[in-house]
Amino acid sequence: MPLNIPFDNSYARLPERFYVRQNPVAVAAPKLIRFNAALADELGLNREEATDSELAQVFSGNLNPEGAEPLAQAYAGHQFGGWSPQLGDGRALLLGEIIDQNGHRRDIQLKGSGPTPFSRMGDGRAWLGPVLREYVVSEAMHAMGIPTTRALAAVETGEQVFRETTLPGAILTRVASSHIRVGTFQFFAARGDVEAIQVLTDHVIARHYPHVDSALELLGAVIDAQADLVARWLGIGFIHGVMNTDNCHIGGETIDYGPCAFMDRFEANKVFSSIDQFGRYAYDQQPDIAMWNLAQFATCLLPLIDEDKDIAVKRATKAIHAFPDIFTQKWLAVFRAKLGLTDPDDGDKALIHGLQSAMQGAGVDFTNFFRALTDRRPVDSSEAQAAMDSWMTAYQSRLDQQGGKADAKMMERANPVVIPRNHRIEEMITTAIAGNYDPFERLLGAVINPFDPDAPEDLRQPPAPEEEVQRTFCG
Ligand code: AMP
Ligand code: MG
Ligand code: MG
Repeated sequence: MPLNIPFDNSYARLPERFYVRQNPVAVAAPKLIRFNAALADELGLNREEATDSELAQVFSGNLNPEGAEPLAQAYAGHQFGGWSPQLGDGRALLLGEIIDQNGHRRDIQLKGSGPTPFSRMGDGRAWLGPVLREYVVSEAMHAMGIPTTRALAAVETGEQVFRETTLPGAILTRVASSHIRVGTFQFFAARGDVEAIQVLTDHVIARHYPHVDSALELLGAVIDAQADLVARWLGIGFIHGVMNTDNCHIGGETIDYGPCAFMDRFEANKVFSSIDQFGRYAYDQQPDIAMWNLAQFATCLLPLIDEDKDIAVKRATKAIHAFPDIFTQKWLAVFRAKLGLTDPDDGDKALIHGLQSAMQGAGVDFTNFFRALTDRRPVDSSEAQAAMDSWMTAYQSRLDQQGGKADAKMMERANPVVIPRNHRIEEMITTAIAGNYDPFERLLGAVINPFDPDAPEDLRQPPAPEEEVQRTFCG
């Protein structure tokens, strides 16, 4: 037995219409790129004597581990605001679930494991670039304390994938608290299947929000989790890029890393994704979009909130309308920590907005600015220094309210030294395609210790103008 995975598959016990059972399609020559031993320990996976090639068999889908019950989950979703009644796992398969060392239920999913009945025109595969990108970015997010899916393994398939050109195929093994999305609820709501919504609601409450005991309370809990998540994204300059309702996780984890990116220079309306033509998912749009997605979720829950539709709508609307205030409080807490402000002050919102516009005017690197502030180094900005200087004066008077000093400990935990910058991601993908994984390993090694003041200097630097990544792609 190459790998003992103690599966306990609760999703496979849900009604048949929640998924389609489907085996992975075997690949030609699986080869292990990386196995996340620390995460495996957390999951209680026992590698025993399993060799790399045995792990590659399991994490390519060539060998079904004992107890796995592979299935493709059904879901729907709004993509860029347009409704799709059926999406579903078109290139991913849930192998099953395990209870981790902390007693939490975790999904183990293969991404890129071959076609499913939900593949539509797609090939069911992934290529190396997005697999390595998701591996690095999701592990970096986790290390920064942002709720996220994790990466357990990456394998090469030994097969080619056809996108605009021919690219090496790969499979990511993803771990999540579940893969249930707003779109999972929408799938059943659109079919008028209230019974399924009830079953799904009970499953989600038991799994993610055991303290909750009504659909309305569940709505409130998901609103809170999404507000928290997006506030944290804004705090590290993260742009998800595809906040479709099918990528909106019901437990509040960051999920489906596609054309996501961290900004270098601060720009409030920054967009990287090549398919986001109108900036729907720009940095500063993310809270509004989360609220829009939550409104879709609320709509699905209406029949469970009250049998009187008017009452249900009234209650759900009230819950959704609370989002902006909930979000603002979380966002203030995130940025207060970044600024080392220990107690709230009424002027903080204006102070933070003032900083953002000064940063934008001066072309300041978001990550390095906050870290310079943390380490009390001079802030590096060439242009529009005056706006920055006057903000620094306002900040100092704000600090005077708490004895003149920022809370350094707080700032050290809130302001990463190193993030996975786009140009470094592109660079490690390019070298990996050529067979050299050293830059991948080096970048990963740095970003999983994001608060280490001794992080390699070159990985801390923003891109030179010619290195700057203008566009990111879905994969
Ligand atoms: P994503 O952009 O990864 O969130 O995917 C959106 C939808 O497209 C989901 O239903 C995916 O399963 C599906 N999809 C994306 N890429 C592929 C592919 N290469 N083959 C089949 N389905 C895909
Ligand atoms: Mg079925
Ligand atoms: Mg998706």
